[in-house]
Amino acid sequence: MSTDALRIENVSKRFGEQRPTLAMRMGLSAPKPVVHALENVSLTIRPGEFVGLVGESGSGKSTLGRIAAGLMAPSEGHAQIFGRDAVRDKAVHRDVQMIFQDPQASLNPRLRVDQAVGEAPLVHGLTDRAGVDAYVAGLFRMVGLDPAMRTRFPHQFSGGQRQRINIARALALKPRLLVCDESIAALDVSIQAQILNLFMDLRRDLDLTYLFISHDLRAVQHVCDRVVILYLGRIVEELPARDFAGGANHPYTRALLAALPDLGQRRKPWVAIEGEIPSPIAPPAGCPFHPRCPLAFDRCRVERPTMQTIAPDHRSACHLNDGPAPKKESHA
Ligand code: ADP
Ligand code: MG
Repeated sequence: MSTDALRIENVSKRFGEQRPTLAMRMGLSAPKPVVHALENVSLTIRPGEFVGLVGESGSGKSTLGRIAAGLMAPSEGHAQIFGRDAVRDKAVHRDVQMIFQDPQASLNPRLRVDQAVGEAPLVHGLTDRAGVDAYVAGLFRMVGLDPAMRTRFPHQFSGGQRQRINIARALALKPRLLVCDESIAALDVSIQAQILNLFMDLRRDLDLTYLFISHDLRAVQHVCDRVVILYLGRIVEELPARDFAGGANHPYTRALLAALPDLGQRRKPWVAIEGEIPSPIAPPAGCPFHPRCPLAFDRCRVERPTMQTIAPDHRSACHLNDGPAPKKESHA
């Protein structure tokens, strides 16, 4: 059995936790509210898998992405990248790279792009002064950019080209896992498809594994093998992408999909489902989705559902999988 590319085990992340001060202990000041960004999240990605992570804004996607990339320590639990601790083991920092949303913000405007791309591989000894120019030219070809453009500055490129430069910079360290956080969200639709194709080509050519964070369900269904649905810091369902549109189990996933009636249709904006996402400062008891769930019954309000395997590669956390709601209970 090969090592998992990513193994997240029982990870929780809270922001704003403080040690009680003297003033707090004396009741003179109240502690600041704590944000429960992730709550007991477990996720495994096998080498070569392309896994999508979806959820509404504020559901904890970027926090999970940063933890998966070793950029942030969890409050509890563990993250391992190819068998090594994502935070403590410095050797993982070459195995995983993160690609962000805004291709503009990620590049230093005063640095020539060949310098931006060549910097890290020089530092890590993947190339030397004599070889760095050819190394960068090779990376440009790999991401579909004309190597002749490598001596230009970031402002001389389009948004899509700048994202290709960011991808080249990430690939410069020969990572095995890419965490893409809304990496196509800021791009024009036509360019989005090109970047998605590039990610898929790179996966084939370089044996890459992906954690692909996106609120674009269409893109996720198109490129991913498996989809993980996050709600209020908890994974509520994970399932093969081919079953996503037709075979979703969790009422939240079904509500997301119902808001997008035709997944095949281009440019359907993300439509919010009914009701507000509750505050991660005071997450609801029981199932996190129960205040918005049309099928919620009494048990959902008090008992947190656990993830259950309902089909191969398909897990869901919903009490209805234990049987239909008792008749006598209200659905109010
Ligand atoms: P998403 O990427 O799904 O929009 P995030 O992971 O960015 O969600 O955020 C999850 C929750 O954690 C949000 O309520 C957000 O406000 C909060 N959060 C994220 N980062 C921080 C931080 N550094 N400090 C405090 N709260 C944060
Ligand atoms: Mg985010």
